[in-house]
Amino acid sequence: MNPYEIRKHFPILDQEVNGNPLVYLDSAATSQKPSAVIESIDKYYREYNSNVHRGVHTLGTKATDAYEGAREKVRKFINAASAEEVIFTRGTTTALNTVARSYGKANLSEGDEIVISYMEHHSNIIPWQQVAKETGASLVYLPLQQDGTISLEDVRKTVTSRTKIVSIMQVSNVLGVINPVKQIAQIAHDNGAIMVVDGAQSTPHLKVDVRSLDCDFFAFSGHKMVGPTGIGVLYGKKELLENMEPIEFGGEMIDFVGLYDSTWKELPWKFEGGTPIIAGAIGLGAAIDFLEEIGLEHIEAHEHKLAAYALEKMSAVEGLQIYGPMDAKQRAGVVTFNIGDVHPHDVATVLDAEGIAVRAGHHCAQPLMKWLDVSATARASFYLYNTEEDIDKLVEGLVKTKEYFSNVF
Ligand code: PMP
Repeated sequence: MNPYEIRKHFPILDQEVNGNPLVYLDSAATSQKPSAVIESIDKYYREYNSNVHRGVHTLGTKATDAYEGAREKVRKFINAASAEEVIFTRGTTTALNTVARSYGKANLSEGDEIVISYMEHHSNIIPWQQVAKETGASLVYLPLQQDGTISLEDVRKTVTSRTKIVSIMQVSNVLGVINPVKQIAQIAHDNGAIMVVDGAQSTPHLKVDVRSLDCDFFAFSGHKMVGPTGIGVLYGKKELLENMEPIEFGGEMIDFVGLYDSTWKELPWKFEGGTPIIAGAIGLGAAIDFLEEIGLEHIEAHEHKLAAYALEKMSAVEGLQIYGPMDAKQRAGVVTFNIGDVHPHDVATVLDAEGIAVRAGHHCAQPLMKWLDVSATARASFYLYNTEEDIDKLVEGLVKTKEYFSNVF
């Protein structure tokens, strides 16, 4: 399917914004949803809405089959060895907090180090800051190369026998760079540390294989991969998850409850306290079906092509600064930029008047903004439904922005 055919599956894209056809370039914040995903949720609520794992009635069985069926789809999608290793969470943030609060708290003490990079999202910084404060462990930052990439030489220097946890994003939501997490995992393991991967921006765009990466934990969100909001996944190796304590306690996750003590269900349910995110999981399952039908290889190739086209066209706009590597092969479909001294919020406002949706701000990456020596940037991000025409409109919009703010050039 070419992007024009793909677009027909996304009803929201067929609309005008401020009198212009919508050009949606904010998929790194959240992707749009195809009809198949919307309909899968609609069908659940209309036809078999019921709680899971409880009663024996027909609707309950149907809902349980759909919920656990979605888990199996996720398992296959990321090539986990077993469905017990797939825990449904609210998103990447909850998944990373679970690792920090459960594994981190139990395994870190004074003198230990947690290694993260300057490009991490706040969701992969703050949980580690908190657990470091609680345990006396130190947070160590992996430096970045001038173009914002990570060098394995730096990883080898930074990760030592003191390191207990390495936690790195596979694709940056700001720079778009694809990090060598498989090689970083190898270095972490050689030093006796575990490897956590923030896959929020990689899972939607490239084929993820957790066994090939050999990471110990992997986190991602459904809403960035054409699925609904409120659902995400924590993958963890079974031997690690089995030895971890839950962080939420209550219904659904227990085996036996006594007056003063209780025992937990087996994996994965011990980490899914309370009524689970049933509609979200079903929607995520439908999203995986949709992406697999198109093919992750196809999506990845399409985005590389768009990134190359965008880098070429945007770098021809005088006064526009692009952050991150200029080689499209090193990036996913994210281009972050500034135009002269125009504030990125003003850039986004002018573009919005043209019907073009981009993001402006610190992108939940304040340490990276500091590293780039800017307070904020604008960001255009592409997905399977974007076309070269969208990028042409963005470039036209940027030229207009420059004209509008010609006083600051
Ligand atoms: N990590 C990265 C790289 C992200 O881009 C995001 C979302 N912007 C997150 C983590 C957090 O994801 P969520 O808000 O879905 O929990």
